[in-house]
Amino acid sequence: MRALRYESFGGAVTIVDAPDPMPGPGAAIVEVARTGLCRSDWHGWRGHDSDTVLPCIPGHEFTGTVIEAPGAPEWVGKRVAVPFVMACGTCPECTRGRGQVCRAQRQPGFTDQGSFAAYVPVVAARVNLVALPDAIGDDAAAALGCRYATAWRALTAVAQLQEGERLAVFGAGGVGLAAIQIAVHLGAEVLALDISSASLGHAMSLGASAERIDATDSPQQIADHVRTLWPDGSSVSMDALGSPVLASAGVLGLARGGRHVQVGLLAEPLSVLPLGRVIAHELRILGSHGMAASDYPALLDAVESGLDPAALVTATLPLADAGPALMTMDAPDAPRGVRLIDPRR
Ligand SMILES: [Zn+2]
Ligand SMILES: [Zn+2]
Repeated sequence: MRALRYESFGGAVTIVDAPDPMPGPGAAIVEVARTGLCRSDWHGWRGHDSDTVLPCIPGHEFTGTVIEAPGAPEWVGKRVAVPFVMACGTCPECTRGRGQVCRAQRQPGFTDQGSFAAYVPVVAARVNLVALPDAIGDDAAAALGCRYATAWRALTAVAQLQEGERLAVFGAGGVGLAAIQIAVHLGAEVLALDISSASLGHAMSLGASAERIDATDSPQQIADHVRTLWPDGSSVSMDALGSPVLASAGVLGLARGGRHVQVGLLAEPLSVLPLGRVIAHELRILGSHGMAASDYPALLDAVESGLDPAALVTATLPLADAGPALMTMDAPDAPRGVRLIDPRR
């Protein structure tokens, strides 16, 4: 099959003729229709994720059709989404319904073969496959495997954002825009902060207010932008990029009793977080890591009844363009929003 692969961290990402994946026990093979280009793919390529196995076919956010599933034949022919954390289904976390933090988890594009390819294997098919209603098209479904589901669960289950609350989103890239769309849908007031005017324009089109920040701003300067709009601070903050400066700014911009949810992965350890403020204002620092397949029904209902992840898509690339796009993802002028890849092109 045609696939995109890198042999070393930071090395060339090229199209190769790779072996077709064979389904292991309980696994399924999905023919990929769309796969998203997510910042985590860039982290993996750079070697920031210690679990990434070389050589690596990246890609973890995909939708497609099940073509083989020897242990779960009822799934063959179904259009599916798959959470990027593929849970084992039997460990203590999975047994408690918390597959997104499964202790035996596998991740396509990191521990296992990813979806920048014609076909991708899915372990524990009956645990990890999510059937898609026909009304949800491929463009809308692609981001359900990572960024959209991550934003949904971070806001609903983890931060428990309520109607009328104020959400500050730091970084209006793919997951940030997803959070903005979802929070507006939930009836929250939303402020987007980013260095890119184009990203802020996209955020405003989704119903957010916007403040442009500079790459050299301190956490306090960024938090001051939040208090310009909301003098008491935000009810909830989300670092949707993954940056020590933005994480600290999120905490400093919170109202008393507020919640910061960290979604963006950090390339470097977070050395300083204003924990004095966390104590004095009784703030809560929360982590959020994807969403288990069993929690998808509420999200699918919301997408069928109004939420439109396809509105976040800014480009669909052929596989040949995906390697260069991945390698330049961290460039300041890299295109933003949700970029998808059609591996059949
Ligand atoms: Zn991702
Ligand atoms: Zn498990």
